[in-house]
Amino acid sequence: MPKILVSGGAGYIGSHTVVELLNVGHEVIIVDNLINSSREAVHRIQQITGKQVALHVFDLQDTHKLDSLFEQNTDIEAVVHFAGLKAVGESVKKPLLYYRTNIDATLSLLEVMEKHEVHKLVFSSSATVYGSAPIPYSESSPAGQGITSPYGQTKYFIEQIVTDAANANPDNQFSILRYFNPIGAHESGLIGEDPLGIPNNLMPFVAQVASGRREKLSIFGNDYQTPDGTCVRDYIHVVDLAKGHVAALEHLQTGTNTFNLGSGKGTSVLELVNAFTDTTGQEVVYEFADRRDGDLPAFYANPRKAADELGWKTEKTIHDMCRDTWNWQSKNPNGYTDNKEI
Ligand code: NAD
Ligand code: UDP
Repeated sequence: MPKILVSGGAGYIGSHTVVELLNVGHEVIIVDNLINSSREAVHRIQQITGKQVALHVFDLQDTHKLDSLFEQNTDIEAVVHFAGLKAVGESVKKPLLYYRTNIDATLSLLEVMEKHEVHKLVFSSSATVYGSAPIPYSESSPAGQGITSPYGQTKYFIEQIVTDAANANPDNQFSILRYFNPIGAHESGLIGEDPLGIPNNLMPFVAQVASGRREKLSIFGNDYQTPDGTCVRDYIHVVDLAKGHVAALEHLQTGTNTFNLGSGKGTSVLELVNAFTDTTGQEVVYEFADRRDGDLPAFYANPRKAADELGWKTEKTIHDMCRDTWNWQSKNPNGYTDNKEI
């Protein structure tokens, strides 16, 4: 079966995608420097699937090591590229680190792929590239205006780099996937999101309040022009998202093709918190706090293109996302503990 290299495959979305790739029969090798993940995630992937995965621990910016890896694996057919830094707030404080890491890692990967004539790539982008475009966001909506963080800018710049590289060689078949808000975990409860330190994102914070690890959730703003005053996002189950990558790999075309991976439905912060309590029976103590800098009031996907061209759409509900998050959180209250402080 085709061998797929997954950069960042030990991370949250990467680990779930590796499971789905193995499930459909691909062979997978992972490159990850474990800066935001754990070897244990890879053991768990093997436990879920009963299949072996090779993990190579190094920084993607190390072009020499990457080159050797491609030399030793001449049968790599495609790359799914997740590796990068993703903390929006940290990127505002350390913009150069974000530009250096995310862009350099991608350049290194594209150069080595070109050298070894690997022509298939799926890249993790984000709905953040739509910035201030009107909602719902379609792939034809303007991108690149009103992006609120250096992290978001790296995604936008890398999209341009990937597009230019694709166009330079008619053999290249690249796909750019713009994710909306991934939450949830594998139904086994063996893999899930394991943020370092205090979570920045809503769902891991909710889960840690429910489990007693954090005292209360601050809801950032309740005076937005939305139905209940809290921000609206398009939450997508991480397993649906992972399956979107399998579909994208199966439908690669010459050049670059960009897809939204979202559900098309908006859910407010309060709706998500209430759904979590309804589903799990766990109370989530919260207070309303000031708006968070850079947050947009509401955005969600127009998911039509992925449905029409990839034959992919989300299947799981907000209820499934809350159930599976809680299953993961309660079975792993401290995440993958092998390299994390508790
Ligand atoms: P994650 O941090 O869990 O996974 C990223 C993985 O890449 C980690 O395992 C990390 O150790 C590894 N990594 C980082 N820099 C590396 C480098 N230079 N060399 C090798 N490995 C490196 O994040 P995630 O949530 O799984 O996100 C995966 C991708 O999807 C990222 O590119 C992220 O920007 C993008 N994305 C995530 C979200 C989200 O909400 N989680 C939304 C949109 C886009
Ligand atoms: N949010 C919140 N409290 C938190 C974390 C997030 O109220 O502790 C809100 C945030 O303001 C946003 C929504 O939850 O409106 C989703 O935030 P997240 O960081 O998960 O995703 P993003 O901002 O990238 O869409």
